[in-house]
Amino acid sequence: MEEKRPRWGGRTSNPAGAVSRSLVGSTPTLFRQPLAKTGRSIEADPMTADDHHDHGSELSPIAARVRALETILTEKGYVEPAVLDEIVESFESRIGPRYGARLVARAWTDPAFKKRLLDDATAAANSLGFDSPVGSDLIAVENSPQTHNMVVCTLCSCYPWEVLGLPPVWYKSAPYRSRAVIEPRAVLAEFGVALPPDTQIRVWDSTAETRFIVLPMRPAGTADWSEERLAELVTRDSMIGTGLPRTP
Ligand code: FE
Repeated sequence: MEEKRPRWGGRTSNPAGAVSRSLVGSTPTLFRQPLAKTGRSIEADPMTADDHHDHGSELSPIAARVRALETILTEKGYVEPAVLDEIVESFESRIGPRYGARLVARAWTDPAFKKRLLDDATAAANSLGFDSPVGSDLIAVENSPQTHNMVVCTLCSCYPWEVLGLPPVWYKSAPYRSRAVIEPRAVLAEFGVALPPDTQIRVWDSTAETRFIVLPMRPAGTADWSEERLAELVTRDSMIGTGLPRTP
């Protein structure tokens, strides 16, 4: 039976609905299982979710592996489930994409900071004293009327956690990872982003060492806005390049 609701998080109301459905149809089912001990839930890696055999367990192979690893590490006293919960909670709700939004809003209001961000985003981000210092090589890529930037990890799910929080499920999905590089304009259309035909789209492939954050264009009509107010316009997707900032 055809699944009408996009499980990858793409929009339902878009002119490219047919394409969206074919993409959804090829999205492996994501398994969510609560972890008995901690009450947290984990998601199967879409890459291995299809490799689901009936071993009498409801867990997908990757979920079973994660649970086994967590159980052993907990029993040996190497990790504390409560601390793990706190870390996940922190990335899920406290950090979220707020730090990235602060970076963008600061760059919009402070030309010197913008230059530093584009020169060395790792150093620029770490100069703001966020909870988790950026450990990887963070690169900021700037959108302009001529160029729109979009970020993917074709290999797996590399993502700048320290500034954007947890990656969305669709970012890790096989369809997004492959189609973002094959037909980025069609993917953008499914996210509701229609760019002028002469705007070039550049797709950046993340790695474990190198992560990217998009510096979107500042919305018009915000000339006298404060940095805090501007940050409210910066969405997570606008920093991945699959969205645009909110408009006032
Ligand atoms: Fe990756």
